[in-house]
Amino acid sequence: MSTYDYDLFVIGAGSGGVRAARIAAGYGARVAVAEEYRVGGTCVIRGCVPKKLFVYASKYKSDFKDAAGFGWTVNQPSFDWATLLGNKDTEIARLNGIYIRNLENSGVEIVNSRAVIEGPNAVRLVNENRTVTAERILIAVGATPKLDGSVPGIEHAITSNEAFHMDTVPETAIVVGGGYIAVEFAGILNGLGAKTTLLYRGEEILRGFDDDLRTHLHQEMEKKGITVMTGDNIAELDKTTGGISARTVNGKALVADQVLYAIGRIPYVEGLGLETAGVETDRSGAIKVDEHSKTNVDSIYAVGDVTNRAQLTPVAIREGHAFADTIYGGKEVIVDHSCIPTAVFSQPEIGTVGLTESEARAQHRIVDVYKSTFRPMKHTLSGGEEKTMMKILVDGETDRVLGVHIIGPDAGEMVQILGITLKMGATKADFDATIAVHPTASEELVTMRQRTERHVRDN
Ligand code: FAD
Repeated sequence: MSTYDYDLFVIGAGSGGVRAARIAAGYGARVAVAEEYRVGGTCVIRGCVPKKLFVYASKYKSDFKDAAGFGWTVNQPSFDWATLLGNKDTEIARLNGIYIRNLENSGVEIVNSRAVIEGPNAVRLVNENRTVTAERILIAVGATPKLDGSVPGIEHAITSNEAFHMDTVPETAIVVGGGYIAVEFAGILNGLGAKTTLLYRGEEILRGFDDDLRTHLHQEMEKKGITVMTGDNIAELDKTTGGISARTVNGKALVADQVLYAIGRIPYVEGLGLETAGVETDRSGAIKVDEHSKTNVDSIYAVGDVTNRAQLTPVAIREGHAFADTIYGGKEVIVDHSCIPTAVFSQPEIGTVGLTESEARAQHRIVDVYKSTFRPMKHTLSGGEEKTMMKILVDGETDRVLGVHIIGPDAGEMVQILGITLKMGATKADFDATIAVHPTASEELVTMRQRTERHVRDN
């Protein structure tokens, strides 16, 4: 019998921490988890889930418009923010309850407190003013929204955390940032009626995604009425009687009721006591781990956003599960971080898996591109202007599909299945041999025969 209070102490009851705690307890480990805010973590409480509910809400504006072409008359739809907020909060409370019950039913002790590391086997429970010991500590504290502290008046801006609790939908909004959370919130605010500007300092939104997705989304967002300003940034913010006034680096003056910063998320390690235990981090503050999620300190492990391997819920869950299987289940599991399918709930939606075109061309000698841009069937009657784009990248030497990138309705749903095919090593010939499902948009994926481009590298 171990002399420690617990076999495993988990800090953070989010996606990664909850999964690791439950699975480890299922293997018989004595497990406790500390949570300083709400069990469920970012994804459930103030991330993926409420965000997607807001996306659904914001899409009705265009759905009502589209309905006319199908014969429907929708008289003056109106929107009530308080109803949406209330219903969203009820749903989040339900999920929070499920997470708590699942932990309890697995035999995990929940401690409602901030936890700080005091040593390789010691954790201070701040709210309870006591220290506990554990044979192993798992850090699963996630990440926190970054704000640009060098901008005067930054205190007038909010982040995604506050966006889930705004008093009203602003009449005008500036979203600062160009990543997936920024484009998603720009779509949400625009759909809910805010005159929205997306301001991004880089050349094009969605850095790291396939270039065709980036430009396509930029155009579609503008078609929907969002002003997309790239190559500029906020220099200064000030609160005035007319709202929040913003001066940009390029000298533009903007005014908005709400300024939402979504410029990235940083590992939430401040004040966590990493130095006390000697846990190493990289330059971004992310905890350095090996393939088993072990830090440089033998008794301390870390999973999820705090390790910055891929800041996504299913990745955190997979890492937490693999840790518990390996350490407590007697079966070594190493998480494969390659070829992760992912969605952006922009409007239109993005689904993407595998290499981008520029990555493919850097890594492979011959890259064939199959690309199709078309009007989704629904818009033949609705009169909507939105276009769908699908792109398949193929290794010209082996015929293996290297990446698939889709922007259009339900792209996120499609890419989950495409992820399986790419993991299995599907070739373009496999796609071609698959019979289409008609009439769908996804049939385009198995009927694109005509290569759009071929890129051959000399060396
Ligand atoms: P988290 O889920 O963040 O959990 C960490 C927990 O630790 C938190 O509950 C926190 O309160 C607690 N904690 C922190 N420090 C302490 C401490 N010292 N003591 C006690 N408790 C502590 N991912 C997707 O896959 N798809 C999406 O569509 C998506 N949308 C997102 C939208 C938004 C707006 C945001 C912000 C994120 C989104 N994400 C999405 C990312 C996803 O939420 C994260 O990747 C995921 O939650 C990471 O899980 P985690 O376990 O690492 O950390």
